[in-house]
Amino acid sequence: MTLRELRNFLKENGFPPFRANQIYRWIYQKLENDPEKFTDLPLSLRKEVKNRFIIPSLKPLYIQRSKLDGTVKYLLQLPDREIIESVIIPDRERRTLCVSSQAGCRMGCKFCYTGKGGWRRNLEPWEIVEQVVVAVKFLKRENLRLTNIVFMGMGEPLDNYENVVKAIKIITEEEGLSISPRRISVSTVGIVPLIKKLIEETGVNLSVSLNAADNDTRSLIMPVNKKYPIESLLQTLKEVEIPRRKRIVIEYVLLKNVNDREKDIENLKKLLRDIPVKINLIPFNPFPGAEFERPDDRAVLEFQRKLIDSGFSVFIRVSKGGDILAACGQLRGAVLNEFPD
Ligand code: SF4
Repeated sequence: MTLRELRNFLKENGFPPFRANQIYRWIYQKLENDPEKFTDLPLSLRKEVKNRFIIPSLKPLYIQRSKLDGTVKYLLQLPDREIIESVIIPDRERRTLCVSSQAGCRMGCKFCYTGKGGWRRNLEPWEIVEQVVVAVKFLKRENLRLTNIVFMGMGEPLDNYENVVKAIKIITEEEGLSISPRRISVSTVGIVPLIKKLIEETGVNLSVSLNAADNDTRSLIMPVNKKYPIESLLQTLKEVEIPRRKRIVIEYVLLKNVNDREKDIENLKKLLRDIPVKINLIPFNPFPGAEFERPDDRAVLEFQRKLIDSGFSVFIRVSKGGDILAACGQLRGAVLNEFPD
């Protein structure tokens, strides 16, 4: 429940709505799941909460921690035995959690391990929020705080729009986890009709997984492009209202000889000319059975330099967790291969 829903529930059941704030603080700040321990609530309300609600929790099933950079990747098992991944990525003062929004994904991007496995179901709002709670608990043991959240794990967030927006409302609630929308990024392949709505409703940062600069190439590697071609996506990015000094992040997975050619650079320059963007280049992270190769480092740097020379801000996303199964969906795949039941 969002805080507002909880307040309404209390009001309808004869309790003062402000008690909702206390309940939120117990669950999301004190990380307490047992209503009997909500000691500043009257006994009658503690009983009501215990009888009427389930405060669910998830426990990591399997954890991998990178010795190289401290990246922590874990699997969470949902009540129906579906398995999802979350990753905590440390970077100087920041600790970013990458959350999943669906079990599997139906977007079928060809460079993505999760996409190969297909879609199983949408995650419920609580299953998204609980990924954050698990990370907060994990970091708390090390006296660290979670600073940022990216919706870049398994699934396309806008393909599970209502549940993702509700989860964001819960995560950003000041009485609860209190993570500012400015510290949350939602990454989409470009479900055009929902992009503006998402930004208006939540105020989060927007990342768009572009990965090609012409429709033929993009449709080849991202089937969603047949429905929402580049022109419609970029038109929306021109229209979407983002706060001053903020920019839309354009993600571009570099695939050798597929989208890293000279003409791709020229097309990208034309496409992105009038849009406030920051470009993240992501050298492809190969996985078993992948049909693409990673360009060599020199080609990646050259791609970056040519875009910078044309006035763009361009970053190369350093691969984290190189010694663990870091590609999205890869850890889940490995564990299921080993323990199929
Ligand atoms: S890249 Fe994202 S949207 Fe595309 S298949 Fe993978 S999880 Fe889905």
